[in-house]
Amino acid sequence: MAAGTRQERVATRERNPKWKLPVVRIEMSECINCDACLRHCPDQFGAIFNHGIDVIIVPELCSGCGKCLPACPVDCIYEDPTPAPTPDEWWAHPYGPEDPYV
Ligand code: SF4
Ligand code: SF4
Repeated sequence: MAAGTRQERVATRERNPKWKLPVVRIEMSECINCDACLRHCPDQFGAIFNHGIDVIIVPELCSGCGKCLPACPVDCIYEDPTPAPTPDEWWAHPYGPEDPYV
């Protein structure tokens, strides 16, 4: 299954191989948890979630489109060419009961 849709990316836990831009990550030590980035991530990507008190980006869902960057009031979203492995518990958010993108 090609990871062409968000549903497929969630099912396979794979990024769309056609995406060439690097994913982005939130620097937790600088983030003020305002949720602005979350509201600016396009629904077809739907990569940013509240995770407890943190705001997180699931790398496999992030196209690197950059729409979230100008939304951040403290500029704490950075390119992440080599993302760390995604924790299992982050996968509870896409299509979970509080998925903000469905
Ligand atoms: S770069 Fe685009 S896809 Fe990635 S988290 Fe930001 S808005 Fe979402
Ligand atoms: S917009 Fe910036 S400060 Fe606000 S939640 Fe997102 S990363 Fe954190």
